Amino acid sequence: MIKKLSGQKSGKDTIPLMETLSVKVGNVMIGSSFPIVPQTMCNTHTSDVEGTVAQCVRMAKAGSALIRITCPGQQDVPHMAEIHSRLRAMGIDTPLVADIHFSSETAIAVAPYVEKVRINPGNFAKEHAVACSQLKRLLAVCKENGTAIRIGLNHGSLGERITSLYGNTPLAMAEAAMEWLRLCAEEDFDNVVVSLKSSNTVVMVEAYRILASKMKEWGKVYPVHVGVTEAGNGDSGRIKSCVGISTLLEEGIGNTIRVSLTEDPVNEIPVAKYLADRYDGKISSSLVSRQSSDDGKHVVAEYAAPSRERLIEDLSCDFGKALLDREIDSVEFHGTFLDAEGIAVDIDKDGFGEYLADELLQACRRRFYKPEYIACPGCGRTMYNLQEAFEAVKARTSHLKDVVIAVMGCIVNGPGEMADADWGYVGEGGHKVSIYKGKTPVLKHVPDTEAVDRLVELIDADRKAGQA
Ligand code: SF4
Repeated sequence: MIKKLSGQKSGKDTIPLMETLSVKVGNVMIGSSFPIVPQTMCNTHTSDVEGTVAQCVRMAKAGSALIRITCPGQQDVPHMAEIHSRLRAMGIDTPLVADIHFSSETAIAVAPYVEKVRINPGNFAKEHAVACSQLKRLLAVCKENGTAIRIGLNHGSLGERITSLYGNTPLAMAEAAMEWLRLCAEEDFDNVVVSLKSSNTVVMVEAYRILASKMKEWGKVYPVHVGVTEAGNGDSGRIKSCVGISTLLEEGIGNTIRVSLTEDPVNEIPVAKYLADRYDGKISSSLVSRQSSDDGKHVVAEYAAPSRERLIEDLSCDFGKALLDREIDSVEFHGTFLDAEGIAVDIDKDGFGEYLADELLQACRRRFYKPEYIACPGCGRTMYNLQEAFEAVKARTSHLKDVVIAVMGCIVNGPGEMADADWGYVGEGGHKVSIYKGKTPVLKHVPDTEAVDRLVELIDADRKAGQA
């Protein structure tokens, strides 16, 4: 028997944000006293100053409140400085964030030219003491220049020291972040935002929850940047991002957000703005009614959505947290959405409602009806046409189940960032691809014209060997 309950119109008006310190990033304030800040990241090469400036202009016009640009090495510092001054000369004052992966010297060199620097200090040096002293040097430069920092740790790129203590776990991610935050506090540097991303929504949510409770216990709560990394593209990427980000925003965790899509990065902004507006209490869900089974585990939801995209965003936020936390087991969707011409389309038509339920359950890692894809959004380090490669890999592997396939833009960070993938397809540069089985490269320097075939052959051979 199904019980009818009232519609769920969720918004931040009923959810107090976790109280945080305030961080100043140029003309943007981040923290619980301010609206949620949507941001995105360029996928141009930073040395392509024209192209990067043009992309930043499109991002700023679309409403990105912060723009991140990769700064792979010292040679890119003058490019960052030029991009910054050209944008300011054009009257675009959106703060810029330099993305640093390994080099503390690059972080120190670029800090005076941008409003924020994103780092994982654990990557600065193998020796913890050396990494600490490099972070202190960076903080001194940031203090002098009014530059903020983000301590940004990803699942899969944790150092050996932390994983030997806590494993490759959400707890390890939170402990690693706490270590760096304590060092910032000791240095009397509070202009810090922190993030712990994973492509796995369960891991990512747990990591942020542990971090939030550890910061509260400590008595010093820094603003949190929330995102699901390598979420992929299309409906799946949007649903996965909305599930992970909204689950945390529902709990008041999250002050700035990035929706990471393997698409034109400008496409990330409407989704991020939707999430920010919803949890700032500016918009409500298009959910009309929900009915629950007697045991409360199955829900039937009816929508009257103003668009297809909005339907996807609403239902991911309405039911993602309950599925992720196993409060409910299944959900079915009915009702309508308006198409581009404003005509109402029945959600039941052509199995669309069932498809949405399948996608949502997979994003919450409750049931896998197709391969789990991990795909980085690409950045200035990307070595090939990532979006085309991802589509080609999906087209040849979508019939498979129970397999995690990663498509990554660069050989430098891709293998580390693809965390728990069974297979990896990683751009090397020069039209060559490396194919990984787990963490091991099994084929190197494969021409990109043949690489998808080789990947499919390897997966097939592995499956046959498993069945023998
Ligand atoms: S893996 Fe992708 S997003 Fe990460 S650094 Fe490489 S190209 Fe950029």
